[in-house]
This record gives sequence, C-alpha cells and structure tokens, in this order.
Amino acid sequence: MIWNKEMECADRETMRALQLEKLQKTVKYEYENVAPYRKKMDDAGVKPEDIKTLEDIRKLPFTTKEDLAANYPKGLFAAKDEDIVRVHASSGTTGKPKIAGYTRGDLEIWGECVARALTCAGQDKNSVIQIAYGYGLFTGGLGAHIGAETIGATTIPMSSGNTKKQIMFMKDMKSTAFCCTPSYALTVAEGLAKEGVDPSELSLQAGIFGAEPWTEGMRENIEKGLGLKAYDIYGLTEIIGPGVSISCDEHNGMHIQEDYFYPEIIDPETLEPLPDGEIGELVFTTLGKEGFPMIRYRTRDLCYLMRDKCACGRTTVRMGKILGRTDDMLIIRGVNVFPSQIEEVISRFEELTINYMIYVGRENNKDTFDLEVELAPGLEIDDIGFVENLRSRVDHALRDMLGIGCKVKFLNADTLPRSEGKAVRVKDTRKLHDK
Ligand code: ADP
Ligand code: ZN
Repeated sequence: MIWNKEMECADRETMRALQLEKLQKTVKYEYENVAPYRKKMDDAGVKPEDIKTLEDIRKLPFTTKEDLAANYPKGLFAAKDEDIVRVHASSGTTGKPKIAGYTRGDLEIWGECVARALTCAGQDKNSVIQIAYGYGLFTGGLGAHIGAETIGATTIPMSSGNTKKQIMFMKDMKSTAFCCTPSYALTVAEGLAKEGVDPSELSLQAGIFGAEPWTEGMRENIEKGLGLKAYDIYGLTEIIGPGVSISCDEHNGMHIQEDYFYPEIIDPETLEPLPDGEIGELVFTTLGKEGFPMIRYRTRDLCYLMRDKCACGRTTVRMGKILGRTDDMLIIRGVNVFPSQIEEVISRFEELTINYMIYVGRENNKDTFDLEVELAPGLEIDDIGFVENLRSRVDHALRDMLGIGCKVKFLNADTLPRSEGKAVRVKDTRKLHDK
C-alpha cells in the first residue's frame, strides 16, 4: 500500500519541477527571515533570484552543526514565536542539544511523512501501533505517534523501557506494529525468549526501527526474535525527526520523502557533490518547512543515493543504510573503523549474540583496541577448546573486515548492558589520556 501515490510515485519531471518551485520559495523565505543565513548568502554573493535550476542549489552555503550551536537556541528559527507550537531537541548523542521549532504546518508535514512510512510498512487504520521510542524532547516517540494517528491506527504511546510491560501490551492489545530503536527491539526480543513467549503467539507484523545505525545482520536477528518484518526509518531532529526516509519491502535502501527533503551527497573533505552510488556525507534542504527550515544541512551521516527503479513502485530517490556518522568513525592505528563493520562481522556468527562493546585506549603511545562480545545462550566461556577455535575464526573475520586486529574477549550471554534507546557501544578513552 502507498499513502500518497501522487508524491511517492511521481515521475521525475513532475518531482523536479515541484522541488524547484519549493526550493525557490524556501531560499527566499530563509533569506528574509533568518538573519545568520542571510549573512552567509550575502558573504557568498548569492541572492534568492540566483536559484534558477535545482542544480543551482550548489551555489548556496551549507548549514552546519556549528551554525546551530552558534545560534542556540532559536537563532535559526524562521517563524514568529507565536506560530511555533512545539519544540524538540536532539538527544545529544554528540555535543550540545539542537533545538527545533515546529509550526502547525510543520507538524502536518511530519504526520504526512510518518504516515507514508507506516503505510510502507503495511500499516493502516486497522493497525495497532505500539510506540516504544522515548517520548519527550527526543523526536522518536512523538514522531512515530503523529504518523500513527494520521493513518488512523490505534496508537499506544508506551515510551521506551519496562520490557515486561511492553510484552504484556503486545500480547493483550494485539499490537500489529512495534516502533523503537533496533537495539531496544533486540532487548525486547530477548525478553520474549526469557519469558518463553513464542513470537507466533503475538500479532506483530511490522517493526519500524531507527534512530541509530544497524546492520542487515541485526535486522535478521530482530525479525526472528520478534516474528515481524523490520523496516528502517531514518530522520533527525534538525530536519524534522523520524520519517525523512523509510525502507520498503525490497530492503534496498530507504525512500526519501523528497518533496519535503532534498538530498545531496558530498565529499566531507572537499564539500563537492558526489555522484549517485558513492558514499559521502548526506546533506538535506527542507522544502516547505516553516519553523526551522534548513538549507544544505550537513547531517554528518554517511551513505549513498540510489535512483534506479524500485520494485515497490515508489519512484522517490533512496538512500543506502547509514554506515555511521563521521563523528562515530574511529581512527585506530591510522585505520578508519566504523562500529557497524564490527556489528556486521559479529552478526555472521551463530555462536555470538549481537551485543558488543568496543573499547579504544592508548598505552605506550599505541592505540589499544578491545572488543567484548557475548556467546549465544547455552554456550560457555569455560569450554576452552570451543572458545579458542571460535576466537581464531572471529579474529580472522574482523581482520578481514577492518584491516587491523583487535583483542576479543568473550563473555557469557546476557552480561553486557542492554539498551532502551540509542545504544552506547563505544568507549574511547584516548581523549582523556591526551589531556
Ligand atoms: P542525536 O542522536 O544527534 O542527538 P537525533 O535524535 O536527532 O540526534 O538523531 C538523529 C541521528 O540519528 C541521525 O543524524 C543519524 O545519525 C541517526 N539515525 C537516525 N535514524 C537512523 C537510521 N535509520 N539508521 C542509522 N542512523 C540513524
Ligand atoms: Zn521501494
């Protein structure tokens, strides 16, 4: 099912014409209402009238996380205070929170985008949608919520945590969809197993998971553990929240709601645009947002764009799974390492759970790199022969993926901390040592 065929299945020319019209309006609106961005445009010698084609977007200056910090809390709001009806703030995974303001119109856009996402995941007004993203300043809870209400589903605003109660509601309310971070989905799947609940006893059809990077391997684990189809939902507070894009049944990238969010991929070093298919930093320009519009916002998320035809029928551009954030990238002994690469390796081993912790430190002027992983339930770290054989296979696979070795420590199942929101999987103590 498709929520808005006209937009989600528009032909290229129609979409591009609409994008250009909305871009021109956005740039003019931003120039007139956001003084710091006007200054940037003036410094770059570009005026709203210079935007004559979609490609002219490249003439416009970027907006960065630093711009948000410098204009904290509301310096980049474009609407009058009286028209702002809601604020959210980034969960502050990295750095200072970023405050976003929404007008009534913005909330409508958000509802529309998440409605498209939930419909893409097979949900409709007969569905029961259990939302276990955190409610509050974080956009996860209220973002999923506004979409669920827009499609007319029965909405259960659980918020995150209290796994036993989540399971009770899933059973008793016959929830058809479950929304939370992938790491919390895994925690709930383990909770089911512990309580001896077979996923087939539940009514779950779809999981709408996002807010943190996760691998295909993780998806398989969650789908098995919860007995549902898992969809990847992407978004960020600065742009609107979840619903910027959603994966479809093809699981080959996430369809971007490009009538509202115009994507570009740039080389984070040279800032030059990159062709489709090449990995770089994702940049978004909002089309139609009023409270907190963004022009060429550098997300720091790394992925690539795909424009080939998708079998689901949607014609919108897709973004590949997020590899990680440029800030998540660890440079260990000179080599770039993303936690998602480690997750991918771990997910290939049936002997391991997909929970892990990465420790990076410094000893004798050399980086240390340690990984803790859990053995699957039923396996024992005391079984020396088995563990040594496993160690050599895991070491080999990690070295193959990363190009450097890391010291692996095996733990018994269920010893690492479990996540209720965005998982913290890296402890890098090198900066502390430098000071
Ligand atoms: P922050 O985590 O920076 O405090 P947000 O709560 O707004 O702020 O989270 C947005 C960020 O979360 C994105 O920029 C991206 O890094 C990450 N994210 C969101 N959805 C996904 C997803 N589906 N896959 C990978 N990463 C995601
Ligand atoms: Zn598709």
